[in-house]
Amino acid sequence: MRRHHPSNGVVFFEGPSELDQSPIVAIATGIHIPSMNRKTGFMIQTWIMNAELPPLEAVRSGKDASVCGTCSLRGKEGKNRVCYVTLADVPNQIWRTWKKGKYPHISKVGWSIIENRSIRFGSYGDPVAVPGSLWVKLAVNSMNWTGYTHEWRNDNFQYLRHVVMASVETEKDAWEAQKKGWRTYRIRLPNEPLLPFESVCPASHEAEWKSSCFICHQCDGARFRDLRRSYAIMAHGSGKGAYERMRLSSRPSVLTVIQ
Ligand code: SF4
Repeated sequence: MRRHHPSNGVVFFEGPSELDQSPIVAIATGIHIPSMNRKTGFMIQTWIMNAELPPLEAVRSGKDASVCGTCSLRGKEGKNRVCYVTLADVPNQIWRTWKKGKYPHISKVGWSIIENRSIRFGSYGDPVAVPGSLWVKLAVNSMNWTGYTHEWRNDNFQYLRHVVMASVETEKDAWEAQKKGWRTYRIRLPNEPLLPFESVCPASHEAEWKSSCFICHQCDGARFRDLRRSYAIMAHGSGKGAYERMRLSSRPSVLTVIQ
């Protein structure tokens, strides 16, 4: 007799993007078979994708703006790709499985499937693209969560600072986001020191991978009068070289500084 395997993913949003109103889909995976991602550990992963094109094609056509907004790491392919998410693998595969109708909607299987689970908000795609009420519902029903947005300057999404971290690249941006009430997660270059409010992310090469997000789960936004630390990590992964080139090319030249 053929055994029935429950789906390892569920759809929790299909509708217009909060960024540009294009159709998008948000899928949670790792429901039954957990993710083996070394940094996040056994977290449920969530994938926010343009609904019209698979992720790689969406990047090529610029339609990834519906889920990545103004993220400075967005777009580009091959050695020029800065974003650490490799689209050709997992996200493309998940998109195609969704297109075949193989993921049930979470309302059909019940929100209890995420009870006592740890969830990564936006394993690909910026959480702001999905209505905030859904992240709150996921947060309330889960054990804990982590999430990051590059849209922390956007007035429309300030409420999400209580749920996710501001993803920042420069010291200046980190200070600016902190002033706006966000906790921050910064990707720094090797010669950039920690800021007074930052600690080294424990799931990093420089911290010798002493923890994972599943255990740490500190990147869950800012509460009222939140005194917890913000975090920083050295550029890493497949986009490390491209990230360093992007950052160095956007720095003012020595001559500009002297003037
Ligand atoms: S600080 Fe903790 S939750 Fe945030 S990325 Fe690092 S390990 Fe994950």
